[in-house]
Amino acid sequence: MTIRLFNTLSKQKEDFVPTTSGRVGMYLCGPTVYSDAHLGHGKTAVAFDVIRRWFVYRNFKVRFVSNITDVGHITDETSDEGHDRIGERAKLEQLEPMEVAEKYMWNYFHDMEALNVQKPNIAPRATGHILEQIEMVETLIANGKAYERGGSVYFRVRSDPDYGKLSGRKIDELEVGTREDVREDKEDPLDFALWKFAEPEHLMRWKSPWGEGFPGWHIECSAMAIKYLGENFDIHAGGLDLQFPHHEAEIAQAEGAGYKFARYWMHGNMLTINGEKMSKSKGNFTTLQDFFATHDPMVLRLIYIQSHYRSVAELSADTITAATSVLSRFRETRREFVRKLELAMAGHDAAFEKKIDFARAQFETAMDDDFNTPEALAALFAMTKEFNAVAITNNKNSLEMGLETFDMLAGFVFGLFPANTSQATQGKDGLLEGLLEIAIEARKSYRLNRDFKSSDALRERLKTLGVQLEDTVDGTRWKLEA
Ligand SMILES: [Zn+2]
Repeated sequence: MTIRLFNTLSKQKEDFVPTTSGRVGMYLCGPTVYSDAHLGHGKTAVAFDVIRRWFVYRNFKVRFVSNITDVGHITDETSDEGHDRIGERAKLEQLEPMEVAEKYMWNYFHDMEALNVQKPNIAPRATGHILEQIEMVETLIANGKAYERGGSVYFRVRSDPDYGKLSGRKIDELEVGTREDVREDKEDPLDFALWKFAEPEHLMRWKSPWGEGFPGWHIECSAMAIKYLGENFDIHAGGLDLQFPHHEAEIAQAEGAGYKFARYWMHGNMLTINGEKMSKSKGNFTTLQDFFATHDPMVLRLIYIQSHYRSVAELSADTITAATSVLSRFRETRREFVRKLELAMAGHDAAFEKKIDFARAQFETAMDDDFNTPEALAALFAMTKEFNAVAITNNKNSLEMGLETFDMLAGFVFGLFPANTSQATQGKDGLLEGLLEIAIEARKSYRLNRDFKSSDALRERLKTLGVQLEDTVDGTRWKLEA
């Protein structure tokens, strides 16, 4: 078994060979915490959550590091234009900048919990690593890769002949913005800030060898990834929009300071809404909270998984309907299968086991090939088909094997059945499912006591709510009326 993954750096699929046998060090660029996370953030987080889980499935010990950008960076690192978004929000909401960061960081973690994204092993905050960033800037100055001007420090882009190797851009073709954007005191308009002089009105500021200021955005990821994963770690991941300039700058800084840095670079594609890129100007900007107010978070997780991480995921009324029906089918099949299993007698069904093994192998082949989740999903469908077809006979051991396999792949790897059944993490469907189980149990006990009047009344009440009960040899099933 070898996992192959697409390395943005080499622009091809490569065998994954870990730096340390049996271990994976993975860094994912996290959010800047000045507002609530949107549907695009969710896609990146879920894509790399599934990839992380796949490494665990393949018996790797994973250290997953994902940062929190809580320094108020200016939006454009190569110019002095742009604004500090955390600082702006602090003024708007009349909060301390750190209160803004704290508030949106926790909102982010709650959204991730709702999406059943596993917590990072380390979630380093930029403000907690100012010293490491200053040290790296000092090394870059000592190596002739950076210079100080008026309390700011800039990276000398033309000192790095490799600059552009990740994004494929050529130094001479890089856009440098309009003339007004270009700071006079930089050696070259291309140079980006490693450290910024803090103007009096700038709220977040730290002492440094160059006076009071704050770090540039790119430097935190280089410094924190090296601190927690080592100077030559396995995987650096992020959204496609971060490839340039953020990741290009991260590589330049780390290599300029004398480190080898990440060996595999992975980028997740974006999400579109009704075929269009999400943006505030188009009026289709949707936060995760907005979505969760009316939809099951697991529907969104499934929409992300239905597309390959390097492809665009599409959100529309149609894809929501389709994902909802797939999810219900998975849940319903699983529920019925558990019922079958309870009634089955000990024994094996060799033919059934063979079919489950075949579907599992298909799932594994798809995931080992650059984490092909859409193909892996097809293997899960094949598995549910076998679940529905298998008869209750003397085959309990085989049914248990089938359920374990399904729970491992759909539950653990895809993370579609969160263990915590609270409404917050399972969504409204989970709550509904739980309540209906209670109603069915109650009706069963009425019938056992031959209280058919109460049993029928309960069934009628559910019917007026749009829930149909159907008594079968395997027990009672429920269905929502279409
Ligand atoms: Zn980053």
